[in-house]
Amino acid sequence: MDICEFSPSYVRAIAPYQPGKPISELAREYGLDERSIVKLASNENPLGLSPRARTAIERELAELSRYPDGNAFDLKAALSRKYGVPMEAIVVGNGSNDILEMAAAAFLAPGRSSVYSQHAFAVYPLATQARGAKGIVVPAKDFGHDPDAMLAAITPEARIVFIANPNNPTGTLVQGAALEAFVARAPRDVLVVIDEAYNEYLPPELSYDSIGWLAKHPNLLVTRTFSKVYALAGLRVGYGLCDPKIADLLNRVRQPFNVNNLALAAAVAALGDAEFVARSCRVNRAGMSQLENGFRALALEWIASAGNFLSVRIPQSGGKPQAGIVFEKLLRQGVIVRPVAGYQMPDHLRVTVGLREENDRFLAALTNALGA
Ligand SMILES: *Cc1c(COP(=O)(O)O)cnc(C)c1O
Repeated sequence: MDICEFSPSYVRAIAPYQPGKPISELAREYGLDERSIVKLASNENPLGLSPRARTAIERELAELSRYPDGNAFDLKAALSRKYGVPMEAIVVGNGSNDILEMAAAAFLAPGRSSVYSQHAFAVYPLATQARGAKGIVVPAKDFGHDPDAMLAAITPEARIVFIANPNNPTGTLVQGAALEAFVARAPRDVLVVIDEAYNEYLPPELSYDSIGWLAKHPNLLVTRTFSKVYALAGLRVGYGLCDPKIADLLNRVRQPFNVNNLALAAAVAALGDAEFVARSCRVNRAGMSQLENGFRALALEWIASAGNFLSVRIPQSGGKPQAGIVFEKLLRQGVIVRPVAGYQMPDHLRVTVGLREENDRFLAALTNALGA
């Protein structure tokens, strides 16, 4: 008898998350020099660690023999000041991924469901499946969320509806007014999770005040992360903002020391570094235009993105998708992007906006890959 057969069938049915290819792995597999590789595959901040975060980490090293503050007091205090929410309304996670998992653990179980969009972030189906709950996938509209269809898809068994805004891997945005209307119309007994991993990249004209909606909507959970604009992806730290009653539930399923000392210290420092965030946004906007111009020159179509990445369509050949082939050809030139066939987007590749030189390298490699 194989012990694995005693794992619930819904666990055995999970298709593991496919991360972006690490630089070290490509170097190993293709015999390339790590320093020559350009990775634009995981929506990381190309500026690297901010000096202030680095200083905070170095200072915190001496404390690594101690357990971290399981209550994350300093980080919650900093978030509370910045966003004007009480500390009881904040849950801190090992990446915002952890918060999404906590939401699933707190509200999903066999016999229940969650609702999310086609092409939505892969963690929603994973977190749902891991609890034996059913995922209700709502067809996308022009690659983006269709809020009306999502509301209509909510069944009596549905306990969570997930919306990534902007969404990954499409970059599509539900504008603030439409999103607020969605939250207002969602049943009060369904947790509405707005996953705002890329929120800080939104230009002023697209920004909206989801945190301000929390007071009116006790079933709303807003998640944010230090992995993207704050450039701390490797440390794993994110947070959720919600009604204190929801926060209390999430804290019950949270691991006691889920966020480590270095991550907590770096996050506090990063949160106060408005200049770094502003610079990151400037670099992103310039890089986004650079990529769009490059795609235009190659007569490629892309999905307009509000994040720090773009999904570009690779034309088919003989009725067959070529994105996978182009992905391989890019790898051979030392450029890592992200295939998104697993998101029902077999003709697209997702590329993270990099530094000018990195974008140039990518565009040159892409030109090459398409020409050959
Ligand atoms: C990157 C990303 C996250 C954040 O993941 P972390 O666990 O915070 O690193 C969450 N949601 C979406 C849509 C993302 O793209």
